[in-house]
Amino acid sequence: MNELYFPEFSNAFEPILQDCRGKKTIVLGHVRPDGDCIGSQVALTRILRKAGINAIACNGHRIPKPIRGFVGDTPFQEEADLSKHDFEKVITVDCSAIDRIGLDYSAIFKSVDLCIDHHVSNNGFAKVNWIDSSTAATAEILAGVAHDLNLDIDPVTAQALYIGLATDTGQFRYEATSVRVFELSAWLLKKGASAHEAAYELYERESANRIKLLQSYLATLEQHLDGKLAIGHITQQLFAETQTSREDTEGFIDYARSIEEVDVAVLLEEQPNGAVKGSLRANFPKFRVDQLAGTFGGGGHACAAGFHSEESLKDFVPQLIKTVSEHLKKVS
Ligand code: 5GP
Ligand code: MN
Repeated sequence: MNELYFPEFSNAFEPILQDCRGKKTIVLGHVRPDGDCIGSQVALTRILRKAGINAIACNGHRIPKPIRGFVGDTPFQEEADLSKHDFEKVITVDCSAIDRIGLDYSAIFKSVDLCIDHHVSNNGFAKVNWIDSSTAATAEILAGVAHDLNLDIDPVTAQALYIGLATDTGQFRYEATSVRVFELSAWLLKKGASAHEAAYELYERESANRIKLLQSYLATLEQHLDGKLAIGHITQQLFAETQTSREDTEGFIDYARSIEEVDVAVLLEEQPNGAVKGSLRANFPKFRVDQLAGTFGGGGHACAAGFHSEESLKDFVPQLIKTVSEHLKKVS
């Protein structure tokens, strides 16, 4: 028999199916869902349903427009109020912490049966935890298990998993882009995924308003700490002027990170209540932006993390510069 990609998880899959059989199962993701989150929610829901399980996907936030078309006929409730529903089995995908499920869901779903994730900051909040931070995406774990078990996945499932891989690897560029990622991507193409369709829908259909937002965001970029730290920000006023929303900022931070001497890039988005949502990126895992985010109560991956601060943009920036300065001294 060929070697399995994820023997520990693949061997545990059948017992999980047994456990879910005959039970209403919900597949949750995380707030501000991205391609890996939605792709993994779609794929797992479809895999479970094909195995005869009554599963649906739900997210407290809206599915971003470029990804929505890939949901297909998967039962998926967006921005759904689930307080009146009764689910017997709860699974999360791509969710690094219980309070990241979204909206009031963490209050409803106090206990999670299975957590499938790849965030290094995930401390295993479910009864069963499939966490592998060596993977580029949660979709890589799901694709690997599907491959190991030779599951007959349909083209919508294959495309959803491919989108998870393509987005969380930054289109196959980031550190975690491994042989396994390419092997699984090739397998997904054989199962009906289309690399071109994914790239076209995700990256070649920008709205004019998003480009206007990008122009203004780029104008805010400033470098600190001998150029090692780049900070850009977006205010609520700018969102209003350009008729855009937080969904439209996907990928913006990569411009800051791509500046030659930058070690840590930060995007600060003003929230409607004046608080701040921060995104952190680095090119190399040694910069441990998950730990940096942790100092503000957030988390994520070594090269991509996030946090929230109750401070206003103006008050937060000096604090941020000081904290990053101390962090860089520690990790450099
Ligand atoms: P983004 O900057 O794109 O919002 O998030 C980058 C990564 O960090 C994602 O994998 C996301 O799940 C994680 N992340 C973002 N914000 C938070 C946060 O407030 N808390 C935690 N624990 N993780 C976050
Ligand atoms: Mn992910």
